[in-house]
Amino acid sequence: MNNTEQISTLRTDCLALDQQDPLAALRQQFQLPSNMIYLDGNSLGAQPKAALNRATQVIQEEWGMDLIKSWNKAGWFDLPSRLGNLLAPLIGAKAEEVVITDTTSINLFKAIAAALHIQSEASDATVRKVIITERSNFPTDIYMAEGLTRWLDRGYRLHLIDSPEELTSAINHETALVMLTHVNYRTGYLYDMASVTHLAHQHGALCLWDLAHSAGAVEIDLHSANADFAVGCCYKYLNGGPGAPAFIWVPQRHQAAFQHPLTGWWGHAAPFAMQPTFDATPGIRRALCGTQPIVSLAMIESGLDIFKQTTMAAIRQKSLALTDLFIQLVETRCASHPVTLVTPRQHQQRGSHVSFQHEHAYAIIQALIERGVVGDYREPGIMRFGFTPLYTSFTDVWDAAEHLRDILDRQDYRADIRRNAVT
Ligand SMILES: *Cc1c(COP(=O)(O)O)cnc(C)c1O
Repeated sequence: MNNTEQISTLRTDCLALDQQDPLAALRQQFQLPSNMIYLDGNSLGAQPKAALNRATQVIQEEWGMDLIKSWNKAGWFDLPSRLGNLLAPLIGAKAEEVVITDTTSINLFKAIAAALHIQSEASDATVRKVIITERSNFPTDIYMAEGLTRWLDRGYRLHLIDSPEELTSAINHETALVMLTHVNYRTGYLYDMASVTHLAHQHGALCLWDLAHSAGAVEIDLHSANADFAVGCCYKYLNGGPGAPAFIWVPQRHQAAFQHPLTGWWGHAAPFAMQPTFDATPGIRRALCGTQPIVSLAMIESGLDIFKQTTMAAIRQKSLALTDLFIQLVETRCASHPVTLVTPRQHQQRGSHVSFQHEHAYAIIQALIERGVVGDYREPGIMRFGFTPLYTSFTDVWDAAEHLRDILDRQDYRADIRRNAVT
């Protein structure tokens, strides 16, 4: 099962696949419009039906009736850690190593700062000044590293590699930190976390992984990969809701040394002692800053609950079957059109979304959306389709590919269409 497998090409075969699919029943737990094929769960996950009840409970009872008592009574104060512990098994983390808090961008800032601080105490600190990341990384990851190092003004440099193959020659004795996104948001390329981390460690560098497009989509074992830090999104494959707080993982072995400059009171050893100086709490809660958006944070549990009903291995297996099918259908049925696969064919290098390049990608995506097939557009000229095994069916894949074929065959798109602010 290394390369894209030949599966079926008939819609009835897809119906049969759906009938045998052990995850098929989980779709019922999501609020999905019946006239929509939603292939954007990698960007904004669908709504777990249970979230509506949870929202009502938070708004009506916890906030409405109990007000400030809810910090204790409803466990609001512990929510970042309690949810972090629920998420931990999905990424190969241990208990008390993850908190759900702030945004991915802000958590990147904390993790990069802590990593640079650890490296600044090493004997070779004067030469270890380089952060390696990818030019094609999600922009905020690069921007946060840029912003922090410019602010520090201590001679740190960013080295942007242009392809995963460049890593081996890029990492050396000057590398302080290798900061990569596990699954590339554009191409869907999946890094081998264990081997990259091993390479970084061999050269004395630390390794920070952004799991935005992999948490809840691919199997992740942060401990067996010996990763140093990780961050990621809860509103993508984890279905936590728009703008849901993100997560940060610091393994126990790094927690004592984990120091970042956003030392707000929630990271204090005794937050309610109201001390005039900062004293970081010993555990993972030192990664917290201040008061959390509780209503939004509370929604995340409904998404995590659904993951308890299956395994990441089952999710990964279905994800590969869905992406294999889509690649095969588009390549066979749209063969006469200039659509080029951007996503790796190799299973071990593929996340859970598939991207194709086309000159009129933006217009084609808009035409698909008009027909109820929701994917998205990414620069340059990329149509991106996310496959979320918890609620995407094989028939959805077939229907989506068929719409794409029909749009291309009939040129049923407006090549001169104007872009919306959010693509
Ligand atoms: C989605 C995504 C983000 C989003 O960061 P926010 O702070 O939530 O806006 C960051 N990094 C990567 C790699 C992403 O895919």
